Amino acid sequence: MELSVNKNQNTAGGKADSTDSALAENRTSAAPSIRKRIILLGATGSIGRQTLDVIRQSPHLQLVGASVHSNVASLAQLIEEFDLTLVCITDETAARGFSREGVRVLVGAPGMEELARQDCDIVLTSVVGLAGLKATVAAIETGHDIALANKETLVGAGSLVMDLARRHGVRIYPVDSEHSAIFQSLQGYQTSDINRIILTASGGPFRGKSRQDLEAVTVEDALKHPNWSMGRKITVDSATLMNKGLEVIEARWLFDVAPEQIIVHVHPESILHSGVEFKDHSVIAQLGNPDMRLPIQYALNYPERREAVTPPLDLFAVGRLTFEKPDRQTFRCLELAYRALKLDGYYPLIVNTADEVAVELFLTGDIGFLEIAELIEFAMERFGRSGELTLDGVVELDAMLRRDLAQMYRNR
Ligand code: NDP
Ligand code: MG
Repeated sequence: MELSVNKNQNTAGGKADSTDSALAENRTSAAPSIRKRIILLGATGSIGRQTLDVIRQSPHLQLVGASVHSNVASLAQLIEEFDLTLVCITDETAARGFSREGVRVLVGAPGMEELARQDCDIVLTSVVGLAGLKATVAAIETGHDIALANKETLVGAGSLVMDLARRHGVRIYPVDSEHSAIFQSLQGYQTSDINRIILTASGGPFRGKSRQDLEAVTVEDALKHPNWSMGRKITVDSATLMNKGLEVIEARWLFDVAPEQIIVHVHPESILHSGVEFKDHSVIAQLGNPDMRLPIQYALNYPERREAVTPPLDLFAVGRLTFEKPDRQTFRCLELAYRALKLDGYYPLIVNTADEVAVELFLTGDIGFLEIAELIEFAMERFGRSGELTLDGVVELDAMLRRDLAQMYRNR
């Protein structure tokens, strides 16, 4: 029975031959007695903390390694609680002087790559930004399956990452709620059965506002998301709709569809997390409370469904589900992401890094809300180029943009 589930599955970016099915069968049949060992990158973030909560409620899941950037106080607690012997602190200053008896402490970005190579069954990547790329590559090269929350990695280097995953027979399980919903809707079907992807968006705190309204919004306003509690970067991305733009690009790579097949629907209730319209026009979608622990649990347990770690959905309490077209004129970031995806080459990387730079500048009060899109467009026009991605090319362009883009934008 398990074998047929895996034969028909649409693993986002994995192998799909008979060896794969057999491997999946072995894994699932062994599951009840063997604990699934997880390495968690970004354990102190919003997704990281919710992943820990899923692990706490799941006796068959075991945390065997964790990374933080600078939050060493929380790391010390994690070491105690989960009996960790392997950790990483990516911020070298924060790592100074940190040691625990019997614990191997890896340091810096190379330390996170080393952590991602250690023995485990799955690596959950929930660091923020393209900082996750090299560790994701290291995990894939080691043959570890990935539960991917760190969307910036796929946005910036989608073709490279997916190609690498295919070559190493590695599966990439989406954690992002929309992509998890698409993945769940696709069970039993092939990506070639897809007519369109219905990608839903809450619309963020500024839904319905005009450009004029947006001129004066503050950081505090942008950080007030109506439905989801998330890290600061993705919360600002949700306010600009760049989060949806990044997710359009993420969907393109995970499900191998053309940009025109991905249709964003603003759905303020955040209950229908996304879906697939098949070639016969039947639509299958996934519904649930806006709670990231459900897609995290699904990614960690796939193809099994386990006992709930989240409350049930009460559709009577929800009452109505509504849908609107996104305003791509006002929320230009979404438009720019589609444009980058069509131009391909290094454009999505530029959108991603320029967005990281712009959000940081917005959060520190250096630029206004509307300038986020302006800065991204400036970067696309100045540095955009097509052509095949290389890892060195990605790393170099990303580093240059982080170093120089803000200054160039000011001097334009
Ligand atoms: P947070 O900002 O809450 O957490 C980021 C995590 O990454 C923290 O553990 C942080 O460590 C660590 N970190 C920060 N900077 C670096 C760095 N330079 N190198 C290595 N590690 C670093 O982010 P979120 O949890 O909100 O988001 C994580 C990822 O998941 C993002 O890609 C986001 O788009 C995606 N995602 C998030 C969702 C959500 O609900 N939050 C939903 C869907 C996707 P420290 O705490 O020590 O600083
Ligand atoms: Mg999402």
